[in-house]
Amino acid sequence: MAPGGGACKEVVKSVPTIADYDVGTTKSESSPTATRSSVTVGFIGKQEVHSNNGVYELLECPLCKTLMYPPIHQCPNGHTLCMNCKIRVHNCCPSCRYDLGNIRCLALEKFAESLEFPCKYQSLGCHNIFPYYSKLKHEQHCRFRPYNCPYAGSDCSVTGDIPTLIAHLKDDHKVDMHDGCTFNHRYVKSNPHEVENATWMLTVFNCFGKQFCLHFEAFQIGMAPVYMAFLRFMGDDNEAKTFSYSLEVGANGRKLIWQGIPRSIRDSHRKVRDSQDGLIIQRNLALFFSGGDRQELKLRVTGRIWKEELELQNKTV
Ligand SMILES: [Zn+2]
Ligand SMILES: [Zn+2]
Ligand SMILES: [Zn+2]
Ligand SMILES: [Zn+2]
Repeated sequence: MAPGGGACKEVVKSVPTIADYDVGTTKSESSPTATRSSVTVGFIGKQEVHSNNGVYELLECPLCKTLMYPPIHQCPNGHTLCMNCKIRVHNCCPSCRYDLGNIRCLALEKFAESLEFPCKYQSLGCHNIFPYYSKLKHEQHCRFRPYNCPYAGSDCSVTGDIPTLIAHLKDDHKVDMHDGCTFNHRYVKSNPHEVENATWMLTVFNCFGKQFCLHFEAFQIGMAPVYMAFLRFMGDDNEAKTFSYSLEVGANGRKLIWQGIPRSIRDSHRKVRDSQDGLIIQRNLALFFSGGDRQELKLRVTGRIWKEELELQNKTV
């Protein structure tokens, strides 16, 4: 019989998965490439873990099908398992039902260290190749990693590069697209007292060859119903910061003005909203701006997007 005890009962409960192994701290990253004999594994396609390549199969956890990182565990009969699954199956080998004990598969860990893999966003344009243990860390920040759909009205799971998302917003969400860096937008809602049915609207602006999402919605800050308008940039944060925008809303000689910097769509819609990084209009004021009998919301939001360096150049000319 195998050491470490006999067969165990099958107990598979879902427990919260523990944090990903911090691949940045492995010594493979600091060891010079030149001293290691490396194997570069090429592949085409997005879903590397489903690749038929034998190396992938070896490093793939048989239970959760994700790539394994140290500590890689094995049962007394040699079946490997990732750290998260070891906890999930309560130390019982899912292949042979033997107690897993606490055996590390050092040979596989060492073997993995000698491998180099292309970034998993290769098909999206990243041509970098990484040692196995620094690949994950890179992929978390790879500038080619897909963006989430910026539409806020539903839980949309579509991801992709910017051109894919623009087509998706047009075709699937029927979002309004506008060309130009200034806008003048009217928001009308007949029963503005129902904040629960959150009013949200998305308009996309095309300017400077880039796309910006103008969000408008109703929600509550504490007990106070408010409307909020803010801009998100369809691209990464470092580029978002090169733009500024202003929003104005008002009527009857009163005006609210907001000036801000668009947030990258890498920041979720909710995160931006909750940080209140935009033009916030209290409902009472919004109804006042709407005029009439306060039964209908009629807001005219005007705005402008500009590029900071261009603005500076214009001023110095
Ligand atoms: Zn697993
Ligand atoms: Zn086993
Ligand atoms: Zn990459
Ligand atoms: Zn979507």
